Amino acid sequence: MTRMLIIGPPGAGKGTQAERLSGRLGIPAISTGDIFRFNIKNGTDLGKEAQSYTDAGNLVPDSVTNRMVRDRLAEADAQEGFLLDGYPRNAAQADELDAILAERDQNIDVVLQLTADTDELVSRLLGRAAEQGRADDTEEVIRHRLEVYEKETAVVVDIYAARGIVREVDGLGGIDEVTERIVDALS
Ligand code: AMP
Repeated sequence: MTRMLIIGPPGAGKGTQAERLSGRLGIPAISTGDIFRFNIKNGTDLGKEAQSYTDAGNLVPDSVTNRMVRDRLAEADAQEGFLLDGYPRNAAQADELDAILAERDQNIDVVLQLTADTDELVSRLLGRAAEQGRADDTEEVIRHRLEVYEKETAVVVDIYAARGIVREVDGLGGIDEVTERIVDALS
């Protein structure tokens, strides 16, 4: 059983690697970004609440995000482990995740930190913008999202590093190559 986080700046390849690890480890990959995008596409109340924030590359308020994650982690498939991608994204969310897990005497086992330099991230995100046309992938919003990561999310790594559970992996390179690095780092 594994309860795991994958943390890294936008464009580091978290989503791709999370999907692959999910298959290998037999645990669900839960992406808060994907849940928001799904709700926005389907015009749900949650989507309406989130859209102005995601479009601008800002964090959706913790009250909305924390409730969504609490509900998702209560679902049956998450009881035997999970891989969270994109949450927690600030110190308050990390506290909330601790609280959710403490209610069930659970903990995060391991945090995978995926790194990549800024120029590489911007060029990857611009490439993805051209392919997928995501509203949050204009160059201006991309740069803002990277700033938000540095300002709010980088500290989350420190919180888990203090617990000695962070494994850092270089996200630069081919998809298979990075997956192998991750598998090595986890073993
Ligand atoms: P992502 O695909 O993980 O980069 O997420 C896309 C967008 O969804 C982010 O830019 C935020 O607007 C929103 N989002 C995703 N996860 C969170 C979170 N944990 N807290 C707040 N906003 C989030």
